[in-house]
Amino acid sequence: MKTRQIVVILLLALSAAAARSAETLTLTRDGKTDYAVVVPENAAPVQVSAAAELAETLRKISGVPFPIKKESEVAAGPDAKLLVIGPSETSKRLLGGEVDESAVPYDGIILKQAGSSIVFSGHPVRGPLYAVYTFLEDELGCRWWTESESFIPKTDRIEAGDFDVVYAPELIYRESFYSGLTGRANAQIAAHLKTNGASEDIPPELGGHHVYQYFVHSFYSVIKPEEFLDHPDWFSEIGGRRKVAGWGLSKEDLSRIPAENIGEDGSQLCLTNEELFGVFLERVRKELDAHPEATIVSVSQNDCGGWCECGKCSKIAEEEGSQSGPIIRFVNRIAEELEKSHPNVLVDTLAYRYSRKPPEHVVARDNVIVRLCSIECSFVQNLDGEYGPSLVTGRRRPADEPQNRSFRDDMVKWSEHAAHIFVWDYVTNFSQYLIPFPNYRVMQDNVRFFVRHHTLGLFEQGDYQTTTGDFVQMRAWILAKLLWNPDTPLSPLYEEFLSGYYAPELTPLYLEYFELLSDAAESTGEVIGIYRQNTLGWLDLETFNKCSDLLDRITAKAEELERSNPDLYTGLLYKVRRERIPLDMVLLQNYNAYSEQAQAEGKEFRAPARADMPAFYEEFRARCKAAGLVCVYEGCSPERFEEYMTDVIGEIVPPEEKKAE
Ligand SMILES: [Zn+2]
Repeated sequence: MKTRQIVVILLLALSAAAARSAETLTLTRDGKTDYAVVVPENAAPVQVSAAAELAETLRKISGVPFPIKKESEVAAGPDAKLLVIGPSETSKRLLGGEVDESAVPYDGIILKQAGSSIVFSGHPVRGPLYAVYTFLEDELGCRWWTESESFIPKTDRIEAGDFDVVYAPELIYRESFYSGLTGRANAQIAAHLKTNGASEDIPPELGGHHVYQYFVHSFYSVIKPEEFLDHPDWFSEIGGRRKVAGWGLSKEDLSRIPAENIGEDGSQLCLTNEELFGVFLERVRKELDAHPEATIVSVSQNDCGGWCECGKCSKIAEEEGSQSGPIIRFVNRIAEELEKSHPNVLVDTLAYRYSRKPPEHVVARDNVIVRLCSIECSFVQNLDGEYGPSLVTGRRRPADEPQNRSFRDDMVKWSEHAAHIFVWDYVTNFSQYLIPFPNYRVMQDNVRFFVRHHTLGLFEQGDYQTTTGDFVQMRAWILAKLLWNPDTPLSPLYEEFLSGYYAPELTPLYLEYFELLSDAAESTGEVIGIYRQNTLGWLDLETFNKCSDLLDRITAKAEELERSNPDLYTGLLYKVRRERIPLDMVLLQNYNAYSEQAQAEGKEFRAPARADMPAFYEEFRARCKAAGLVCVYEGCSPERFEEYMTDVIGEIVPPEEKKAE
């Protein structure tokens, strides 16, 4: 718990030192400013970016250019009007010992008035940039929704005051894993949203990001499966025979290995084999030497079963009461050696599926990260096993989900067995990205749950392969906000995004939509995991009809808004129609089931007549195409997407009928 304790103690000390200053500062008036943005003499790239973004955004807001000056060019007297990018001599002088910049925890910020000046400072890696972003967002009302959409207010008089922020996030690793935040092309929005994960390819001038060597499931990245031919003892013994996982092997290698040596449920490595240990260590060292930018190396099990059952490995698993025992003992040995050659690198391993249960005795070394995965859990209940709060009333239904409680018990115990806990959490349905996933109420509960249980890094795996899904832009944004501050009130976050990215008029309607879906899921008591093919079992016909009606009203409203105010709302109808894809997918998947039920029970089914379904389908496909959609489940390809969609419409209108039309 060392790192976490330090963070908490420092935060308390910093908060105690902070005092509020009530003077309102006028940054622009009558097309002029008395202020200058000030950078240190040898500003770091991140400070240069912070200064440039501050000056440029203030100009966009007011039309007034703000000069950027070096410290030596300004006098920092009590009446000076400076926007100081720290840490620097000037920021130190202005803070006057009230806040110690050198003691700010990782990614922490200082945003503070000092007389008529403002200090933007914090931890040197990203602090000054994050302080500028916080000021522009919280004090001036700027918003960054996606890489291409933002809101910058306009005024000729910029005023700011009564702010005093000293804050550091408890999560030092924050990743909201959506396609809209990954890669270099989305680096600016990822930085704006203060995420810093491995796939968020943020350049040094925007603060960079955590760099992994091997991201996950690295056993076969280090030891190639074809090495089984020469070194079967490096691989798992399963049922009395050494075995290798068949995937990853070329056809030729596969033909050289007898079928009884291929692990049915995959295979791992023999973690007590001394020769393997030496080779593994040497190769990891070599890779780290070749990639000095990496600060974390993954030494983690393959994404399959097949742990080693040899005498030595089994003995450890028995002593430790879990398959995590042999893993942590192996990883600890690697970490102990790497500490000598690579003291700044942490070694990351998984507590995943067969290794999720913590060991009885061994404790992970201080330079080891244990990455716990919530893959078995239900996500309509939170990880304490309860339902989340209504987004409108805040009320909760009682629940007691045993699977999630078992995860909670493992989480509690891991926090006693590892100083560094990262979590791999899941926030979408990987078997079907394009249907509603009713976890709207629990996303915050779960982030808070992880932080409460000493998590330092959180990877939220969302719809990373699709441009469209169940409100993916909103989810990416909300999750990023929660990763930065898990206590940000949830309903206002929804309201803010819905109003800003769509339109304020649509906010209550969309909230009602999420409430209808959440209520439907909760009222069934279903376990809703991340691999469901469709919504049958929780999304009943009546709720479908109500949702359909709501989305009709939203579409009509969006049409009216875009027509009456094109300057403000061009593109709104496109977004609203794109966000209807999930409910339309429900209609397509469940058309026959809902039709039969409606007929049998004399109920309404709000859907086109069967004869009109080909036209509905064509229009749906056109919308998918416009949204760049070629993926319906994890690992899907454009060809499989075509096949999937052809099957879906084929169930409603068989191909021969379509041809006969
Ligand atoms: Zn073994």
